[in-house]
Amino acid sequence: MPGAGISSEALLDKLGRPVRDLRISVTDRCNFRCVYCMPKEVFGPGYQFLKMKSLLSYEEMERLARIFAGLGVTKLRLTGGEPLVRRHIERLIRMLAGIPDLDLALTTNGSLLTDKAQPLADAGLKRITISLDSLDDDVFKAMNDAEFPVYKVLAGIDAAAAAGLDPIKINMVVKRGLNEASILPMARYFQGTGQVVRFIEYMDVGNANGWRMDDVVTSAEIVAMIDAELPLEPVEPNYPGEVANRWRYRDGSGEIGVISSVSQPFCGTCTRARLSSEGRLYTCLFATQGHDLRGYLRTGKTDEEVAEVIRGIWRQRADRYSEIRSSHTVGGLPKLPKVEMSHIGG
Ligand code: SF4
Repeated sequence: MPGAGISSEALLDKLGRPVRDLRISVTDRCNFRCVYCMPKEVFGPGYQFLKMKSLLSYEEMERLARIFAGLGVTKLRLTGGEPLVRRHIERLIRMLAGIPDLDLALTTNGSLLTDKAQPLADAGLKRITISLDSLDDDVFKAMNDAEFPVYKVLAGIDAAAAAGLDPIKINMVVKRGLNEASILPMARYFQGTGQVVRFIEYMDVGNANGWRMDDVVTSAEIVAMIDAELPLEPVEPNYPGEVANRWRYRDGSGEIGVISSVSQPFCGTCTRARLSSEGRLYTCLFATQGHDLRGYLRTGKTDEEVAEVIRGIWRQRADRYSEIRSSHTVGGLPKLPKVEMSHIGG
């Protein structure tokens, strides 16, 4: 079996971090233009998206997933762009669901979920994360810049619950001056539903979103805002390296998460690798370059040979961008040609 026999002994990077999480971007396309990820000014009508023939096939994605599983990956998340815009994604899910001991998840903007939730569950998907940045229609449309209404995403979330996808997590990116007034309504709405909202600090991903530190609402501010009305207490992480810091409602009605890449960087426990839809391996969300793996797949290399290439890349990994960002004064950060988040998934 491909991947079987690939030894993962002690595959650690330069900071002693193993590779545990693989995020595969199945497409760089999306039907939204979220201002913090794919602003229209850059990703407008003339933007050149990747051509279909340059994308990894589902068979190639499955093969790489098996190889990474052999190297120690236990969690695989499908992302995009928007993964559900790629056709027949259920076929990929079915293939990946066949890899033993792999925790398979998917992140979506929820726009196509009403129709896709059941087929995804039938194909073997167990859990899902849905992005929703506000319950206020005007604010949400300002964030997604695609005139897409809230009620359709909420209907998608209900369809995911009806299809038995569990847990369901909700990701909300908070940008000051745009949607911080939506934080409490989101917390109230999902409190007691078992669906966990993760509030994400606005990040300087890529080069297109015009990021400024002033636009960041820190996790500390977010927690304080919610705690003032819905008292919270901190909870231990589910596992080492968990991205979100957990807080539960003191009345026992559930929990929230905060993802604090800017104010409390977590590079020290980062075990995430990212694969773009054209088969380039990125070792950090803020990387400036990736490593081509597609060429090896398409030139007859064996799984062990591909695994050896990946080992070589991972062993050289020393990424800790968020820590570096924090140590620089605002504005002192060198302008880096970072890869766009829509190209490698969040
Ligand atoms: S900045 Fe890079 S190294 Fe740090 S947590 Fe994010 S992806 Fe990992």
